[in-house]
Amino acid sequence: MRLECKHVWAHISEYLDHTLDAELLAQIELHLEHCEVCSAILDSTRNILLLTADDRVFELPVGFSERLHKRLDEELAAASSG
Ligand SMILES: [Zn+2]
Repeated sequence: MRLECKHVWAHISEYLDHTLDAELLAQIELHLEHCEVCSAILDSTRNILLLTADDRVFELPVGFSERLHKRLDEELAAASSG
């Protein structure tokens, strides 16, 4: 089984929370090694989580998920147009 980018994105918060099961974790890490888009998204998502973790423990800002998905769409469009 091979993960697509959207599968990685669907599990990114679990990945950051370390709540993924080992098999899925291994597949996501394999994907991240080969996919610059997902690596970049992971980095920026991690930064957002670190910032928000200062005074509210992993509570995401309202609309975060919506903005993240919009961003992901843009990244994907940029990636596929070369
Ligand atoms: Zn990817």
